[in-house]
Amino acid sequence: MNAIILLGAPGSGKGTQAARLAESLGLPHISTGAILRQAVADGTELGMAARDIMAAGRLVSDEIVLGIVEERISAPDCSRGFILDGYPRNQAQARALGGVLSRLGAAEWIVNIAVPPEELAARVRGRRGTDGRQDDSEEAFRRRLEVYESESFPLLDHYGDRAVNIAGLGSRDEVFSHLCAALPFATAPLTTPQLVTR
Ligand code: AMP
Repeated sequence: MNAIILLGAPGSGKGTQAARLAESLGLPHISTGAILRQAVADGTELGMAARDIMAAGRLVSDEIVLGIVEERISAPDCSRGFILDGYPRNQAQARALGGVLSRLGAAEWIVNIAVPPEELAARVRGRRGTDGRQDDSEEAFRRRLEVYESESFPLLDHYGDRAVNIAGLGSRDEVFSHLCAALPFATAPLTTPQLVTR
């Protein structure tokens, strides 16, 4: 079982790349943010608990998100593996995940999509309005970046050599080919930009 963990700041493109990788590997794409947004839209108890925290750009409690992840990865469609997008977000979550994955005997593949902060801000401003995400507002985005820097960025130290850094700049195809190059079982489609001559 392969557990692929995508790390990256808000606006790094990890959601887009995770979806593409999921399609190409035939593995489920698990986005804790998307699961939480759905719960908010459905007005479930989970959604009610998470709504204001998410809108403010802060982290939902570790206990809640771990519960979401544990439940989702125990579903039958995850038996070959899965792609985690947005989890873990801090060291406590990474430790909890490590325990769960070692019990499952899963191999951990950690890829960090690195994008400079000024580019992140430009991308999020660009998608404002079109994605309809409340947490893309200037204030919530600032908070999400702060939370990323203080809580999530240190995950790179936590994982050390186990995390592979890829450049998140360039086209979606270019980033996807870097991502595939970081995973021995993934092959980028033959239309990757390096192979196209103009
Ligand atoms: P995302 O779509 O990954 O940017 O997540 C959107 C929001 O959902 C985040 O800003 C958090 O409020 C919440 N969220 C998603 N994943 C987590 C997580 N692993 N831990 C805590 N909160 C999370």
